[in-house]
Amino acid sequence: MEGEALSFGMSIRGFHHMKKKRFKKEFLLFFLSLFSVFIFLNALNLNLGASKKIKIVTSIFPLMEFARAVSGDRGEVSLLLPAGAEVHTWQARPSDIIRLSSADLFIYIGSDLEPWIHDILKSVKSSNLNILEASKGISLIEGEPQNREHGHEHGVADPHIWLDFENDQIIVDRIADILSDIDPGGSKIYRKNASSYKEKLIRLDQKFMDSLKNCTHRTFIMGSHSAFGYLARRYNLRQISLLGLSPDSRPTPKKLIEVAELARRYKIEVIFFEASVSDKLAKVLAEEVGARTLVLNPGANLTKEQLKSGTTFFDIMEKNLENFKDALICR
Ligand SMILES: [Zn+2]
Repeated sequence: MEGEALSFGMSIRGFHHMKKKRFKKEFLLFFLSLFSVFIFLNALNLNLGASKKIKIVTSIFPLMEFARAVSGDRGEVSLLLPAGAEVHTWQARPSDIIRLSSADLFIYIGSDLEPWIHDILKSVKSSNLNILEASKGISLIEGEPQNREHGHEHGVADPHIWLDFENDQIIVDRIADILSDIDPGGSKIYRKNASSYKEKLIRLDQKFMDSLKNCTHRTFIMGSHSAFGYLARRYNLRQISLLGLSPDSRPTPKKLIEVAELARRYKIEVIFFEASVSDKLAKVLAEEVGARTLVLNPGANLTKEQLKSGTTFFDIMEKNLENFKDALICR
């Protein structure tokens, strides 16, 4: 009996022991599988993280180029405006609102360059969309009151801020800032990209500075809207234009006569017209004062061909510089 009890007791203990052992093993297996699932999910997540780019939409071409330069491989940057569209007068379509809703970051100039911005942002229902207004924190040039006949007598700030390459350096830094907020892991890359792009802007600025130092003329005439106020301020030039800050206005006969008189007084030899706008007004004025016409490109938007061929902000500005040197007779 005692032996039986003993063997029974032993077998109970043995059973216990066995159960404990199996339990341990099962527990371990369970943990191992949980761990591998965890690792797998983590890898999947990392993978997704690597392939998921930050979607950036910009209103105008220079901002697209800046955003591309700063975001590098981590960003997917596109232009809101279709090729050739005029930024001041463009109208958003429902598809644009859908596109913006799925973006991570929208960059625009502000200061009324994009009068359609308020409507479009009101319609975008996305709490994920970060917004960068590039003109904030930049010292703006107050424009002349325009469209008096329409009752808008308030002075409007000149929104063409990207035509001062120092402003562009500020914008590039701010793009690096906001990208670092959205994606802290890429911060170092964004800073590095921003500083090498800024170096190119500094070289461009220096080239303008040197090339426009010794010129016969310091006044230039735009036979269109006044897009080059920032460039004029930076390089100590004077811009006279037929239109105000927005290209959809028309010059009054009085304004035409006034500008023609100034052209004669300053012995102007070139009337500039804008790349994306008709040169008709410039031609009329040039004929009136015996001048020729040359093109300037503010670069807000490019043609389809230019976008396809990879024309850069620097290409456009270098071409502008050539025409400035020609028109102002610089040595
Ligand atoms: Zn403009």
